[in-house]
Amino acid sequence: MDTHAAPVPAASGAAALRDLILRKLTYTLGKLPSEARDRDWFVATAMAVRDHITERFLKQMQETRGREGKHVYYLSLEFLIGRLLRENVHNLGMAEDLRAALADLGVTPDQARLAEPDAALGNGGLGRLAACFLESMSSLSIPAFGYGIRYDHGLFRQILRDGWQQEFPEDWLSFGNPWEFARPEIRHRIGFGGEVVAEARPDGSEKLTWQPGEWVDAVAYDTPVVGWRGKHVNLLRLWRARAPDPLRLDAFNRGDHVGALGEQVRAEAISKVLYPADDSPAGQELRLRQEYFFTSAALQDLVRRQLRQAGTVTTLADRASIQLNDTHPAIAVAELMRILIDEHDLPWAEAWRITRGAISYTNHTLLPEALESWPVPLMERLLPRHMQIIYAINAEHLDAVRAAHPGDDALLASVSLIGEDHGRRVRMGQLAFVGSHKVNGVSALHTGLMRETVFRDLHALHPDRIVNRTNGISFRRWLMQCNPGLTSLLTDALGPTVLDDSMRLEALRPFADDAAFRGRYAAAKRANKEALAVLVQEQTGVRIDPAALFDVQIKRIHEYKRQLLNVLQTVALYEAIRAQPMRDWTPVVKIFSGKAAPGYHRAKLIIKLACDVARTVNRDPAVRGLLKVVFLPNYNVTAAETIVPAADLSEQISTAGMEASGTGNMKLALNGALTIGTLDGATVEMADRIGAEHMFLFGLSASEVEEKRAAGWHGAQAVDASDTLAEVLEAIGSGVFSPDDHGRYRELVDSLRGNDWFMVAADFDAYVAAQQRAAALYREPEAWRRAAVLNTAAMGWFSADRAIAEYAAGIWGVPTAS
Ligand SMILES: *Cc1c(COP(=O)(O)O)cnc(C)c1O
Repeated sequence: MDTHAAPVPAASGAAALRDLILRKLTYTLGKLPSEARDRDWFVATAMAVRDHITERFLKQMQETRGREGKHVYYLSLEFLIGRLLRENVHNLGMAEDLRAALADLGVTPDQARLAEPDAALGNGGLGRLAACFLESMSSLSIPAFGYGIRYDHGLFRQILRDGWQQEFPEDWLSFGNPWEFARPEIRHRIGFGGEVVAEARPDGSEKLTWQPGEWVDAVAYDTPVVGWRGKHVNLLRLWRARAPDPLRLDAFNRGDHVGALGEQVRAEAISKVLYPADDSPAGQELRLRQEYFFTSAALQDLVRRQLRQAGTVTTLADRASIQLNDTHPAIAVAELMRILIDEHDLPWAEAWRITRGAISYTNHTLLPEALESWPVPLMERLLPRHMQIIYAINAEHLDAVRAAHPGDDALLASVSLIGEDHGRRVRMGQLAFVGSHKVNGVSALHTGLMRETVFRDLHALHPDRIVNRTNGISFRRWLMQCNPGLTSLLTDALGPTVLDDSMRLEALRPFADDAAFRGRYAAAKRANKEALAVLVQEQTGVRIDPAALFDVQIKRIHEYKRQLLNVLQTVALYEAIRAQPMRDWTPVVKIFSGKAAPGYHRAKLIIKLACDVARTVNRDPAVRGLLKVVFLPNYNVTAAETIVPAADLSEQISTAGMEASGTGNMKLALNGALTIGTLDGATVEMADRIGAEHMFLFGLSASEVEEKRAAGWHGAQAVDASDTLAEVLEAIGSGVFSPDDHGRYRELVDSLRGNDWFMVAADFDAYVAAQQRAAALYREPEAWRRAAVLNTAAMGWFSADRAIAEYAAGIWGVPTAS
């Protein structure tokens, strides 16, 4: 047999594609076309498309065998993937063929597309970033693997019952996943617990080995990720936890049918559910087990690849770049050391050189409550060998600090990997910092604050380690696929090269002064707004007017993101319209969407308030449709793909200094929404490029927030100075919007009069003024459209391709082919 034969080509062209889909339906699903449901068409189509991706993947593997370049390994506990059919078809350039193929079968592309479940293996921005980055790595032909967990249940489905969030499990796998390949043969043993034993080597030195008390298998599931124009394919390899011994047959035969399954249940719990907490550490042991599970599987996998390709671990840092997406995989520092020292007998110093050479770490938050740390006793019980290694890393690290700064105990305590604040805990951020050659923030502002706050002392010791890599988004998904109307306008105006080089958008600037172009641009926006209006009516029953200003805040519900500020301004506008009904108001639709962490009661109360306000406003005849408020349930990538292209105004109103970057801000501006926002995260850099005069910026800066907090700010000062704010708080606090429970919002309102930690009261008047500027500009449609075009034109730099090229050049040391 010729083992070098090329893979059998997947036939191309519409007719061949139709036959392929029909074969999948017939022989893989076992269905007749006449009884196929939309879901069957989706699965058959996805399998046919996957064949095309697989063909390219296998060919690429064959071509590079024996001369594989350096690989990037992107470790992330979250991947917010969304649907893949449109992305894969688009990147392969198969959209037209597929339309024709399905039409032949009597199916529309939307029938198949809308039947795909939304893969939500993440909570929000961090997980979506990982998904955009994977797509960009493929588009730039960087050999890469994404590593994560194949959760049975992704992020919960949100239902609003009477305005209260309820969580239901999401069953994205219930009808199988046609994109993935199960790889039962790719399996790694993951240990937990047990003890460390010392043996003497022949030379008398001591060799320590970990003898885990418990084993779990990590089994690989591969989803191919095809880049733009089908150039390159990488794998997203997600691990599923399986018990090595699925059934205790002895117990079963004794009649203990439930107990016989106990081990299996305990092992497999690791990949059961995504932790739905966003921006906060989950203190549970299961979370630490998840983190170690996927990190160890990833490292064992990449070390095995290294050995297969290079025959030795000593060149690992030249052949592998391991990027830690936040601290969730920070245990990689100790795990790689363990593998190199205990399993490959490398001396400590060499293992440390390799580990630091290979690993780099992205920080995503400065929120103190989100900085991960694990109690030492838990680590000692679950990962005893890793705890030893962490102590040894720490000793060496602190020795170096002591040598450079003798007698500075405060410095030692501050940079130690072990914190003493709330019992002894391992600080995962410090571990990741010390074990990495580069540490990056995700926007210029965030990186600066990292240097001044969380990592101030470590930064002083290692001034070259922290670098900035401002986030980016996939323009394929967040422009070309979700907004085909605008995309065809752009290719008409600028030529097709804009699809390959986002910086070509700069050439759009002159079109801002072209009235005919502005008209077409506005027509595309209008069509998108009509589509969103349909969705809103379907989901909430509320009719909205596509001519109104669509004012959109879509993101996780969090106090620092300040949905509450938006609701307060909504109430102020409502009261103003009622007080002066005859003024010529700009009709506004307020659109909220987002999930709250299930245990975050304040965030859930803010959802309830938005819904209470919506109900009151929407049925008040005095408002005459000038203001509508909707809360769209179950925000996810799929919902964003309809909302983003339809937005006029993008709410990016976090308390300055608290949003690390944001990526929703980028999606919305790219699609021509004007930003109302604070100078926070990447919005600062957006303003540098768009021009502040084409945005509605307001509020305290990050340093002003710091100063105010330090000076003992009290929201009552702002309430006393603002009649509008006082009236709004009085109305909400006294139960105008909650007649069924007058006291529902009293405590919420009191917190704004109190320390007002998130500066909602402090920024209220400035925000209302910015909203008035936005409403006024919207009444000058030509001026508004001109600003919108200039927003799109300035956003080219925020492509994930640019971000990934920066990681590749300065952190990973891998070439890119764009
Ligand atoms: C982009 C995106 C986010 C991040 O939004 P931010 O406004 O940056 O917080 C969260 N969730 C989904 C579904 C997204 O698509």
